[in-house]
Parts: sequence; C-alpha cells; structure tokens
Amino acid sequence: MTTVTKTEDSPAPTGSEAFLSVRDLRVQFSTEDGIVKAVDGLSFDLERGKTLGIVGESGSGKSVTNLTVLGLHNKKSTTVDGEIILDGQELVTATERELEKVRGNKAAMIFQDPLTAMSPYYTVGRQIMEPFMKHTGASKKDARIRAIDMLEKVGIPQPKQRVDDYPHQFSGGMRQRAMIAMALVCDPDLLIADEPTTALDVTVQAQILDLLKDLQQEFGSAIVFITHDLGVISKMADDLLVMYAGRAVERGSVSEVLRTPQHPYTWGLLSSMPRLGGDINEALTPIPGAPPSLLNPPTGCRFHPRCGFPDQVSGGRCTTERPLLADGRAAACHLTSEQRQTIFIDRIKPRLG
Ligand code: SF4
Repeated sequence: MTTVTKTEDSPAPTGSEAFLSVRDLRVQFSTEDGIVKAVDGLSFDLERGKTLGIVGESGSGKSVTNLTVLGLHNKKSTTVDGEIILDGQELVTATERELEKVRGNKAAMIFQDPLTAMSPYYTVGRQIMEPFMKHTGASKKDARIRAIDMLEKVGIPQPKQRVDDYPHQFSGGMRQRAMIAMALVCDPDLLIADEPTTALDVTVQAQILDLLKDLQQEFGSAIVFITHDLGVISKMADDLLVMYAGRAVERGSVSEVLRTPQHPYTWGLLSSMPRLGGDINEALTPIPGAPPSLLNPPTGCRFHPRCGFPDQVSGGRCTTERPLLADGRAAACHLTSEQRQTIFIDRIKPRLG
C-alpha cells in the first residue's frame, strides 16, 4: 500500500483505488543551456477501464509525463522525482529490467507517427509477434495466429496476407491500426495514446477513435489520451487534466471542464477553437503570447504573462505565489470561485456560445 503524502506544491487527488497513480511528479532535463523543468509537481489518478484526457499546448509536459510513466525518457540527462504507482508497482525507482516487463505486458503506448514506432526492416506481423513471444513465451506459430487475429481485430482487410507486408506497404491509417495491434497484443491494462490521430484525415481519425473505444470495452484497458484537440477529448475521455507549462491547471470530468471551465488557460484554449456548428467566418480568440521557456519559467502562476486577470487578484499573488490545484474538480488559480463564475458568465460563455 502506498502512502500518499500531500505536499504544499501538489496536493494529491482523492481516490486510493487508482490503477495508475501519479504523485508530485517532477521531471527535469539537463541541457547545454541549463535545467528544463518539464514537469513540476503533477498528481493524477486513473481507474481501470477509464480514459483520462490530458490536453495542453506543445511543451506543456503532457508527452514527457507519459514517456516517464513508461520509463522511456533519457535516463542519463533526466531527473525524475515523485511517485508513479501502476497496479501497486512503483515505477520511478524500478530497474530497467522491471520497466521492460511493464512495457508491453502491463502498459503500452501508441505514438502519433507509426513510422517512428515501427521498424521499416521487419514485417508488420513480426513486429506484432515479437512482444507477444517475449512477454508470454508463446511459440512462433501461436504468435503468428495471434498477430493475424489482432490485425483482424483492428480492421485490417485480408489479415492472413497483410501480416507479411512491411510498414511502407500500409496506408497511414492502416499503419496506425497496426500500431494499435502491436500495443494491444499482450492485452495491457494501461494504454497511453499520444496524439494517435493527429496525422490522419478526419474520416480515418474518427474510425481510429471508434476502434480505440471498442477495443477498450473489449480489453478493459485504462487509457491516457494525450492531445491538443479538445474535440477529440470530448469524444474519448471520462476525465480531463489541463496542463500548462509542466503543471496541471484544471481537472474534472470532461463534461464539467468543457461546459463550465474554471481556469483562464482553459478559457483561452476553448476560445481559440472553432465551435461545432458555429459560423465559419467567426473570429477565434487566440491566447496572447507563447508558452514560456521551461529553462526559466515565470514565477508564481506560470500562466501570468498571458493571463488577462492578474489585476483582479489582490497583493500581486499571481506573480509571486504558485496557485495550488485542490482535490477533485478544481482549477489552480488565485481568483476566487465567485470571481471565476462571474468572469465566465459575463465574458467567456458568450464567446463559447
Ligand atoms: Fe491568471 Fe492569476 Fe489565475 Fe494564474 S492565478 S490563471 S495569472 S488569475
């Protein structure tokens, strides 16, 4: 049983039955220019069979977090602190051998670009068979049967023939399906999908999202779904974590966060997105400025240089004091909940329609 310690910077969410539990995670890289504080005190929980969406701009720490969960970060240049507990197993202090067992067997990842995850030199079938043989001890014959079965499950036509194709003989959508087959071949309990549909056209994207949902029902996996696309998240996730500059700034169920967002950054994300059914000539409202450098991130609230509301917080706290993310449905912001509600109703909601 893991003891969860609340720290001043990162209160732990409630829920001790989580299948994946991340506590006060801090990830830093050494670079020639200094230390990059890529993830700074992140905590979240995920239950079996549920999907957690993580959204944020590039550099928000969402992908780094998930590479760290699977131990795929560069061990030489990266420092990781905090706790990552997967099904009772602590992963931050796990050896490479233990992590290898976890990867593929208990947890697997689907990347944005299958060509970076698949070798061009081996057939698709062999790449599905190998993790299966490695983790289950299955024979080559049984692994081939399993690979064909998986290709069929993910909707590859003529799987008995296509199992011997190389990745370049597959279309982009088929490669993505094959990568999902690779990820699911050992029936992992946790699937991390990092922008899995970003490179695909809208029709194929919808098919892959449906496929992931169907497979989740069949395999009962927990999914961490990373994206910058709130439209995709609304279809896929149960809960949502909004990240900005290495920190979680808002959390709640997807419907809560999308219907009544509470953090100025989430307001900015939603206001910069076209509305479904909205006027195509409608002006979008981009978030001013750019995400900060994490070599030297802003003090206090990291969003303060881009936020329109620090003057409504007394004592200049936005620039000096880190706002904390409370348990459950919450936003890390110094505005009072009454202030946020008034701003949302008067200024943000009319924009979102
Ligand atoms: Fe804006 Fe201050 Fe809230 Fe940060 S804490 S989001 S700067 S109002």
